[in-house]
Amino acid sequence: METLSEKMFERSKKVIPGGVNSPARAFSSVKMEPPFIKRGDGTYIFDEEDNRYIDFVGSWGPLILGHCDKDVVDGLHQVIKTGTSFGAPTAIEMKMAELMVDSLPNIDMVRMVNSGTEATMSAVRLAKAYTKRNKIIKFEGNYHGHSEGFLIKAGSGALTHGVPDSLGVPAEIAKHTLTASFNNLESVENIFKANPEEIAAVIVEPVAGNMGVIAMEDDFAKGLRQITDKYGTVLIFDEVMTGFRVGFKGAHELYPDIKPDITCYGKIIGGGLPVGAFGGKQQIMSLLAPIGPVYQAGTLSGNPLAMRAGYETLLKLRNNPQIYDKLDKLALRLEKGIREAAKLSDIDITVNRVGGMISMFFTDKEVKNFEDVSKADNEQFIAYFKEMLNSGVYLPPSQFESLFLNAKMDNEHIDFTIEKARDAFKKLTR
Ligand code: PMP
Repeated sequence: METLSEKMFERSKKVIPGGVNSPARAFSSVKMEPPFIKRGDGTYIFDEEDNRYIDFVGSWGPLILGHCDKDVVDGLHQVIKTGTSFGAPTAIEMKMAELMVDSLPNIDMVRMVNSGTEATMSAVRLAKAYTKRNKIIKFEGNYHGHSEGFLIKAGSGALTHGVPDSLGVPAEIAKHTLTASFNNLESVENIFKANPEEIAAVIVEPVAGNMGVIAMEDDFAKGLRQITDKYGTVLIFDEVMTGFRVGFKGAHELYPDIKPDITCYGKIIGGGLPVGAFGGKQQIMSLLAPIGPVYQAGTLSGNPLAMRAGYETLLKLRNNPQIYDKLDKLALRLEKGIREAAKLSDIDITVNRVGGMISMFFTDKEVKNFEDVSKADNEQFIAYFKEMLNSGVYLPPSQFESLFLNAKMDNEHIDFTIEKARDAFKKLTR
């Protein structure tokens, strides 16, 4: 008999392309149909049939406090009674910006937008205006949203679906995006040598999460700052995923000596509501309209609901730094448990982890860049994913994505997951 999710997917597909509002949700990468999610509670989500899953997706990163965190929900209730949007300055935008500027070492000023895509798109425009140059360097397998200049050798859904380049991106635009290899400084140097006066920005995910979790090596990070300084190029950290995730100060906790000129945010800073932000040096940020010549705007930018959900989330994280230790310990427990479980069944896996971000590749090789990622066995992953889902563990539907732990998780959730992984690996070897 058809499940409610199956029925809803059929209906949705008639009116929404592919039945989803973002491609990865369609689960086509794992060759199955997605459950429709009805509600969330702490660490769990429930589908339309009331099947319960431990949620390791967390809305793809924002829900570091888990679903329906009391402070976030209470804050939203308060706001909603007073109106949902004004298109005029509000106190909560000011407080949010102050909190970010006070907390983050490389941010003098910040501008709010509605998604990570908008943040990176605007950051690059700013960098181009600041340097009066047109080209950017990005890294193969990094994902910076779906604006035109970024859909070139992109990660995440674009990677999973095997269509790294999108139709509709004109060649004249794509030619301004040059692609280097992550953790390979020589590939960056070569591009600079060939285009010494032309590179406006280098944009990087300091801990890549969109080809699975891969951190920048220290020398690579240092090298990026040195080479961008040498050539007068803006260094942009895309911390849409890592911001307030790999530590309260994001990548700064991991690479304190590397100071990006612009940093992009999203996900956690909206506490589960649509948001993005980009900030950086005053000198650069002052180029933005209305005080400068770079136009950027948004009807719902700084929306009171999104700001309040984000503000409550950031306050809680700031006031409870032990959350990061907890996420780190839980993720370490998961990492060890998964490794041991795979070993029991002689399955080759490589686990990469940074704090509470973790991913697992079906390969016995070290995974340090996109080339390594692409060698992982996808059929094994698909079988594993399905087993885990059937056992009540909701993983990202691709090994090229990060799992996200949340603050409501405990050892018992991790141990349950390890136990189910052990069973899943056993079935793979049969
Ligand atoms: N940058 C990074 C690093 C991301 O992970 C994402 C989304 N996963 C984006 C940008 C785009 O953000 P959004 O989906 O909010 O547009």
